[in-house]
Amino acid sequence: MRNGTIPGSTGTVRPMRLLGDPALGATCREITTFDTGLARLVEDLYATMYAADGVGLSANQIGVPLRVFVYDCPDDDDRRNLGHIVNPRLIRADGITVTGPEGCLSLPGINAGTTRFDETVVEGTDLQGAPVRIEGTGFFARCLQHEYDHLEGTLFTDRLTGLRRRRALRAARRAPWAT
Ligand SMILES: [Zn+2]
Repeated sequence: MRNGTIPGSTGTVRPMRLLGDPALGATCREITTFDTGLARLVEDLYATMYAADGVGLSANQIGVPLRVFVYDCPDDDDRRNLGHIVNPRLIRADGITVTGPEGCLSLPGINAGTTRFDETVVEGTDLQGAPVRIEGTGFFARCLQHEYDHLEGTLFTDRLTGLRRRRALRAARRAPWAT
């Protein structure tokens, strides 16, 4: 993306993969080619995330099994965090754990109290291959853990246990988008 362009403004909104789609359960592959195809993918991710009014989106949610996600997410102090990361590694996820409401663009309308660490650091690169380090706290730390999980084929409902899990999965089965 060139300086001065709005993220996603040149991207295409792609169909969202929903719970039950095999693309969401597979581990994504490392990206080894930093070309215009990757730049287009990142633009499409931004466009699709904004169209769906989300705060983060991973490539496998639009059916591309590669390790990249985008985010535009506030932290608990309402500071905006905007960007993308390629081949992220989860460097740190610790601090206190917080159980808070969490949803996912691949399960529209479903929310559940999900336990996450309050502090997260991920390292990877940008779409040109330059190193990137992202430090998040609060809701943004939750977002980074959620998107990193996607690349490992894990959904937030996989993190739930007991009654919370049963309730969320029952709501998903009864959702209008369920197949
Ligand atoms: Zn998600």
